[in-house]
Amino acid sequence: MIIKNAELETVCGITSVLPDHDKAEIAFAGKSNVGKSSLINGLMNRKSLARTSSQPGKTQTINFYNVNQTVYLVDLPGYGYAKVSQSEKEKWGKLIERYLHSSKQLRAVFLLIDIRHEPSQNDKMMYDWILHNGYEPIIIATKLDKLKRSQVAKHIKMVKEGLHVVPGTAVIPFSAVTKDGRDEIWEIIEGCMAQ
Ligand code: GDP
Repeated sequence: MIIKNAELETVCGITSVLPDHDKAEIAFAGKSNVGKSSLINGLMNRKSLARTSSQPGKTQTINFYNVNQTVYLVDLPGYGYAKVSQSEKEKWGKLIERYLHSSKQLRAVFLLIDIRHEPSQNDKMMYDWILHNGYEPIIIATKLDKLKRSQVAKHIKMVKEGLHVVPGTAVIPFSAVTKDGRDEIWEIIEGCMAQ
């Protein structure tokens, strides 16, 4: 995908009306710090349009990035901050649940997992939750550059087994540093847009 323009068009909080339009939406989920902002920036060829390293306790929002007036990359709020209060966690859950339930244009959900570590309990819950909402998550294994090439296959297996992915699930290694995996992710997105 050649990026002609990319802009943050809509920011939705817990009481916001979700946008109503006719373009495909592609959502990205993952725990805080997994590299979600870096991935979205990398896909859009922007340095810092999506914020990086959002702080715990910051207002949780769903951000819609309009790319080329043809597709929305949807940044779901990160999870996994131990310090967040129970009521914040509940708000987070309601916000995502409402989106997954009611978006008419959502075509695919990518779940980001740090390639170095075994998926956490929260990652597994998120995977199951997306599946339960009717979407088969596509996995992006982030921070590929932090591993030696010889370790990659073993770690992809670890991610697949940790999440108990459904057979045939794609796991795409990605690095925001080298941009490895970027073209493959765009190919999948473009395939989903054509559906
Ligand atoms: P988010 O909280 O999921 O949006 O994560 P960020 O994109 O803010 O990334 C969290 C931290 O990991 C930042 O310090 C990034 O620079 C770093 N990071 C993100 N992706 C990569 C990557 O592919 N490789 C390396 N080496 N660092 C990364």
